[in-house]
Amino acid sequence: MEQFSLIEKQESLDVLNYQIKICEKCSLASSRKNALIGEGNLNARILFIALSPGVKEDIQNKMFVGPSGQVFNRLLYATGIDRKSVFMTNLVKCTLPKNRKPKKDEITACNAFLNAEIAIIQPEVIVPLGYYATHTILTKYPNNPFAEGRSFKEINGQLLTINGMKILPLTHPSALLYNPSFEMDTLKKYKKLQLFI
Ligand code: SF4
Repeated sequence: MEQFSLIEKQESLDVLNYQIKICEKCSLASSRKNALIGEGNLNARILFIALSPGVKEDIQNKMFVGPSGQVFNRLLYATGIDRKSVFMTNLVKCTLPKNRKPKKDEITACNAFLNAEIAIIQPEVIVPLGYYATHTILTKYPNNPFAEGRSFKEINGQLLTINGMKILPLTHPSALLYNPSFEMDTLKKYKKLQLFI
């Protein structure tokens, strides 16, 4: 695979980010304040994919600044990962009204942006957070665990290699807001990322 320089990555992201900010490809454009672009280290070894911007992220136009972000920061800190070293983005770039689930057509409409971000950053491991990001990333490949009848619960925390790409599905931090007792188990899974620090 061709490796990109930092300048090439920045230039490609600038073009992509402009396209994201003005995008009106799905109905979520009408209820958002900001279409949230990915942020972080352009040479990151780890690329996280969250679900969508929450209320605070939509207002402040920044990744993981709301309650889920606090959980995310705590998990990264306990894992020994510097937030500045990773790249973070969302499956769906515009906020989902009342935190509803994303619709298939919304994921499909937004997916080209996610694919482009992955192609630009060239991470060593992709970390989809929660079912929707995991399902979207894995089902690009015919030989994926969902096609084999496995559930998200079964592959959560398992480092997979599919077509040469390393993928580690993990629990979305927002799930811990509803189930704080899962934190120890979740942290154990996040610690698998220590391989990539
Ligand atoms: S969610 Fe994605 S596809 Fe839909 S309007 Fe926002 S940026 Fe465009």
